[in-house]
Amino acid sequence: MPATVTLKKGKEQSVRRFHPWVFSGAVGSVRGNPTEGDVAEVYASDGTFLATGHWAPGSIAVRIFSFEKTNPDRDFFRKRLAEAMQYRVRAGIAGRLDTSVWRLVHGEGDGLPGLVVDIYGNVAVMQAHTAGFWHIREMIAGLLPEVTGGLVTAVYDKSEGTLPFMAKLNPSNGYLVGGNGEAGTVVTENGFKFRVDWEKGQKTGFFIDQRDSRSLLARYSNGRRVLNMFGYTGGFSVYAMSNAALVHTVDSSAAATALADENVKLNFGDDLRHRSFATDAFSFLSGMEREYDLIILDPPAFAKHQTALNQALQGYRRLNALAIQKMRPGGLLFTYSCSQVVSRDDFRRSVFVAAANTGRNVRILYQTGQPADHPVNIYHPESEYLKGLVLYIE
Ligand code: SAH
Repeated sequence: MPATVTLKKGKEQSVRRFHPWVFSGAVGSVRGNPTEGDVAEVYASDGTFLATGHWAPGSIAVRIFSFEKTNPDRDFFRKRLAEAMQYRVRAGIAGRLDTSVWRLVHGEGDGLPGLVVDIYGNVAVMQAHTAGFWHIREMIAGLLPEVTGGLVTAVYDKSEGTLPFMAKLNPSNGYLVGGNGEAGTVVTENGFKFRVDWEKGQKTGFFIDQRDSRSLLARYSNGRRVLNMFGYTGGFSVYAMSNAALVHTVDSSAAATALADENVKLNFGDDLRHRSFATDAFSFLSGMEREYDLIILDPPAFAKHQTALNQALQGYRRLNALAIQKMRPGGLLFTYSCSQVVSRDDFRRSVFVAAANTGRNVRILYQTGQPADHPVNIYHPESEYLKGLVLYIE
């Protein structure tokens, strides 16, 4: 018998609208004494069944994976994973010859809150963000070769940094299926090559979510002097190198700039148009003259929690003001926020205030979001975390 969670009177509305989170404040009573990650059924105060999900003791009490009464066994998850695969085939992402890196499972966006699976060639890198998925990681990993039609031959679990600390699960990263020194493999994205180390790299090794923005960049970098701020492994830099006059990559981590150099070399050999700088973005921008006419700002999330929102907005304002101020006339700014708690409106306002403060005339070319393999669940607006603006600075 799964545990049961009965909501307070009147608190069932959001679940009826298919929002996948039950907040602890909405919970009236819990029966069955669940421990973190156990399956729980959610009921309205009048006893009507609402949903099935994973229970946790935090501010989100249940993460829902089904709005039907269900037995969440191997067949259930096989079907969900197969649906995620089918969606990516239909969206033109899986099965392309020029792109071997993409996301197979994007949490709430795929009806699997707490699970992320990224594909790097034949390797799947999996992250459990909840105890619920961590407990069934072997089952999920075992299903990945099958649901991808044999594409996946190894599965690396990288949940050490993503599981809730308080759950005391003592995870350790490692292969659950196959795995013989594949890390450091070269993958392709739109025909460009990247060396990815999912064992040591940030997130699952590569910022897959900027694929569409990198393509857009390549349409505008022709002949320009490009500055790629927060460049990490040089994703934007490699695309810009296809046609730019020069490309400079800045990241505070020397390991990141070394990888950026390597990735540029992998695609373009020793090309003097590229240089990288391992230094702080803010001081680099403050110290430079008007040297560039295309600047990319793709910083890490400035706010991880609601409490840090104001500080984050200030950070975006300061950063964007510096870049706009230092832009050559006729330049383009590609600017992003990946903080989930910063809304699209908040981000737009910060950037527009920054622009206004510099007194420069600014137009919007594009407002961008996440690529199709990071789908936004329309019932869960929180899953829209990546916001971008492309601005023309006169
Ligand atoms: N644009 C990248 C992803 C950026 S991730 C891509 O497309 O792959 C954010 C990067 O910012 C990280 O590599 C981190 O090392 C770097 N970073 C964080 N704080 C920084 C700072 N103050 N100055 C420069 N780089 C910073």
